[in-house]
Amino acid sequence: MKQIQINNTTVEAVKGDIVKQEIDAIVNAANSHLMGGGGVDGAIHAAGGPEIMADTDRRYPAGCLTGSAVASTAGRLKAKCVIHAVAPRYSSNPVCAELLYKAYYNSLIVAVRNNCTSVAFPSLGTGAYRYPLGEAAPIALKAVRDFLQKHDSITLIRFVLFDDKTLSAFEKELTQ
Ligand code: ADP
Repeated sequence: MKQIQINNTTVEAVKGDIVKQEIDAIVNAANSHLMGGGGVDGAIHAAGGPEIMADTDRRYPAGCLTGSAVASTAGRLKAKCVIHAVAPRYSSNPVCAELLYKAYYNSLIVAVRNNCTSVAFPSLGTGAYRYPLGEAAPIALKAVRDFLQKHDSITLIRFVLFDDKTLSAFEKELTQ
């Protein structure tokens, strides 16, 4: 576990399961069809129940573009909302880094719009989408730092990482 303070906001990296967090917004590593899948997405829908999919089907029938994020009900989860963020499938194209950055940044914008003051992120893109951790973690922290230079309503940003390798990669980026 590692924690730093950036302006008004605590930014931390913990090992754990994102669906167990008691926090305003839980970010999902979604796909652009918002169709449901494995990894974080499977865990969120399994724990949150069918209400989440019903809500995204109704509100976002066209899905969500890569690099964007949309909010839905959190169903049975202990959160105000789930924010579905779409990371890119990894390739060496530089546009990939920009899209991953935007997925994080836009999630935080959506959190503010939904009056959330605390947000839990998984490591977007580094599972099924194969983004290398050593590239993804600095992008995640750059997006968070840039966001916090312009917005101060979010008081807690927690990265909830599933394994030691992912936790270490994020802890390494958490320096004052
Ligand atoms: P993507 O398709 O964006 O790569 P994945 O869900 O496949 O997303 O994986 C993203 C990361 O989330 C991986 O590091 C994976 O191990 C991790 N992960 C899987 N389930 C959970 C969970 N319940 N809580 C937190 N992290 C999880």
